Amino acid sequence: MATTLITGGTVVSATGRGAADVLIDGERIVALLEPGSTVLGANLTETVDRVIDATGKYVIPGGIDAHTHMSMPFGGTTAADTFETGTRAAAWGGTTTIIDFAVQKFGERVQDSLQTWHDMAAGECAIDYSFHQIIGDVNDESLRAMHELPGEGISSFKLFMAYPGVFYSDDAQILRAMQTGADTGLLTMMHAENGPAIDVLVGQLLAQGKTDPYYHGIARAWELEEEATHRAIMLAKLTGAPLYVVHVSAKQAVAQLAAARDRGQNVFGETCPQYLYLSLEDQLGAPGFEGAKWVCSTPLRSKHDHHQDEAWQALRTNDLQMVSTDHCPFCMKGQKDMGIGDFSKIPNGIGSVEHRMDLMYQGVVDGKISLERWVEITATTPARMFGLYGRKGVLAPGADADVVIYDPKGHTSIGVDATHHMNMDHSAWEGYEIDGHVDTVLSRGKVVVDDNTYLGRKGDGRFVRRDPCQYLI
Ligand SMILES: [Zn+2]
Repeated sequence: MATTLITGGTVVSATGRGAADVLIDGERIVALLEPGSTVLGANLTETVDRVIDATGKYVIPGGIDAHTHMSMPFGGTTAADTFETGTRAAAWGGTTTIIDFAVQKFGERVQDSLQTWHDMAAGECAIDYSFHQIIGDVNDESLRAMHELPGEGISSFKLFMAYPGVFYSDDAQILRAMQTGADTGLLTMMHAENGPAIDVLVGQLLAQGKTDPYYHGIARAWELEEEATHRAIMLAKLTGAPLYVVHVSAKQAVAQLAAARDRGQNVFGETCPQYLYLSLEDQLGAPGFEGAKWVCSTPLRSKHDHHQDEAWQALRTNDLQMVSTDHCPFCMKGQKDMGIGDFSKIPNGIGSVEHRMDLMYQGVVDGKISLERWVEITATTPARMFGLYGRKGVLAPGADADVVIYDPKGHTSIGVDATHHMNMDHSAWEGYEIDGHVDTVLSRGKVVVDDNTYLGRKGDGRFVRRDPCQYLI
């Protein structure tokens, strides 16, 4: 196997930074060395097969995006990125592992749905991948099937308090599934919005002729996110199940998570770049049908209520633990435009898998989070949360050589024509300028992106079996 030495860089971890050279043998990191280390009198740079000069740059663990939906069926269409195009775009942006979702539909066997997603991803991915299991039909059979998931390398499952008639679970189903989660050691992930109440508001708004994308955000009021978050926390407390709330956007929901954590409960929350940067007024409320680009659930929140600032603050204080994208891209033409004249028919989702590392690095530049916290919320905590730590999320001997060399003096322009490699006809981040640049990306020792050139290959990414959550109190 080929040996690689990354020299001259500043290695950044969740807990600190320092000058170090990273020695890679084949697919694994074998050592972090003092710069210029010698072995038996010989300079290592002369004995390894390949030297990568990272002088003046940050060397960080590859990003882990723990919330993506490649080829996800939703609202009569399918997310525009496949596992091939989506993982390629992820690699471009310095993400070397995704955790996607296998979707058990109503009436379907859990194991059949998992197999469907394995079949969809196998041989297609440029980087490593895993799955969470969506339980869309909680019943005796699916609860039994959950017991088999740890043996399949799946350590988390997701429920929906939203989307009645599609993925929705009622409180009785949630209680039973959480009990099973507690029994089996599976982490319960929750889409926390009160779906039945939202559907009433949607119907009333449409009846009043309020059909623009903006009203998607009005129907999905923050009160219904806070209420559902609180309910999920209480059901989790009762059952002893650890709880991870996905795509938290309302500051009131953050406060519920913080209060539960202050009580010592194993409750965690993720947010997404869109909830840190974008708003109900500026994006969802864009003129005409433009706002459809930013229709996602939970929705973008009002800038007047400072939800965005509160989310950054929660990332600093660890009231929110990590940032995923909820990458679920739909094109405007032929997909989002299904909802012209009826916002409820706009497929929900934003594409960001390519930009998460950059957008969060901009938070470092802007003084919102530290350099170490950037690594923690994008790589290290996702690894710990979802049972990958040691192999992923850290640069240490024995870990997979998933490495990103990031140039703080570089620059990245985001947009469809500029840097975008996602399978979309628009960018939710058009015009964003990042004061940094993903220079080189290694996936298990193989260079997949270097100097604005893609060197990856579909099928090189492997399914990764996951251990139980490593983040419990
Ligand atoms: Zn999602």
